Amino acid sequence: MYSHKAEKIDLNAEYPCICSRRGCLKPIALTDAFGCDRCQQIFVVDRSGLTLEELSTHAPYKKTWHWIGNQWNRTDTTLRDTFLPLSMSIVVIPLVLLFFVRHFPAILWIVLVFIIVPIPALLVWLAYRR
Ligand SMILES: [Zn+2]
Repeated sequence: MYSHKAEKIDLNAEYPCICSRRGCLKPIALTDAFGCDRCQQIFVVDRSGLTLEELSTHAPYKKTWHWIGNQWNRTDTTLRDTFLPLSMSIVVIPLVLLFFVRHFPAILWIVLVFIIVPIPALLVWLAYRR
């Protein structure tokens, strides 16, 4: 997807803000977070030290970035993590259903649908859970 390798974010260094080139992300003392001196946004560095996360309570999923040496590179971690299980379920579930429709009486596959349908929902829930 992107050619540049993510670098470890230095919690003692200053970085340009994601919002604009003029904003400056400054480390917030005793935290793993950075605050912008222009837009007042707060960003948190995750445990790996490679990913910067937008600190937002209302967003459905958090925006994340990698530092690639000279700029921030947007990483849709959540989207990527969700994509594989979702695409798998989209492919596998109809095949499984088709199999049951062909080989089992209707009542039995209706019961199975109620067991299989919550699985993608569970995968999405797991992917979005932090
Ligand atoms: Zn900013």
